[in-house]
Amino acid sequence: MSNEQNDRIQGKVVVITGASSGLGAETARHLARRGARLVLAARRQERLDELARELKDLGAEATVKATDVTDRGQVEALVKHATDTYGRLDVMVNNAGLMPLSPLAEGRVDEWEQMIDVNVKGVMYGIHAALPVMNQQQSGHFINLSSVAGHVVFPGSAVYSASKFAVWALSEGLRKEAGPNIRTTTLSPGAVQSELPQSVGHDETAKQVNDLYEMAIPADSVARAIVYAIEQPADVDINEIILRPTAQEM
Ligand code: NDP
Repeated sequence: MSNEQNDRIQGKVVVITGASSGLGAETARHLARRGARLVLAARRQERLDELARELKDLGAEATVKATDVTDRGQVEALVKHATDTYGRLDVMVNNAGLMPLSPLAEGRVDEWEQMIDVNVKGVMYGIHAALPVMNQQQSGHFINLSSVAGHVVFPGSAVYSASKFAVWALSEGLRKEAGPNIRTTTLSPGAVQSELPQSVGHDETAKQVNDLYEMAIPADSVARAIVYAIEQPADVDINEIILRPTAQEM
């Protein structure tokens, strides 16, 4: 790694939603080692506090804000917490998400609504809260978590895929509207180790997901991709990354 690349992450203020586990937590660790200043958000405050202590032991700056991304006011408060604490916001990682897969005929409507609320509205609220700050700064970077399921649809993934196709559309619209100083990255992972499969409540689908996740790759694969997108020079916008286990066909 060149010193110049290192400098591009050093001091950046990065908000991560869904930082209490999985990809969000691992991304926080990687960015902390590179000198970023972190704002950790999720609902489970005690997990965030524990992670913040770990990051501080690495010598990094980290602050915590308990946030439910389905609540627009809480997402606004999260961004305000970032700017109150650090005076700016460089990267908004809209990562919080759920994947309660099931066939449509099962009619698990509450789970569908939860996916739309967290995976879609959560990202919209993140954009809504952070965009004015980035516009004022004339710089900023959104990193939105879609999925391989945001590019292809499997039996059982209809609503989850709809939510992740929506993330792709939101990111692409944002990219076209946000002007020359704001970067937008859509990151679409395949099977990656995290707590995500635990959100599948439908037994038969859960079995299929567990089979697929036997090939899952470590969460640091995604963290490294996020670092890569952030460490580019300001005039380079990595718009899309799809990454899968080499063994994953779909
Ligand atoms: P995890 O289940 O490990 O993490 C999900 C995170 O989202 C947790 O930190 C959870 O925190 C947070 N979250 C859930 N609901 C809310 C809410 N209402 N408000 C705030 N935070 C919330 O899964 P991953 O790390 O794998 O998932 C991260 C993202 O990556 C998701 O968007 C997922 O769809 C996407 N993804 C993951 C893949 C994988 O294979 N792992 C593949 C493709 C995409 P808490 O419960 O404390 O609120």
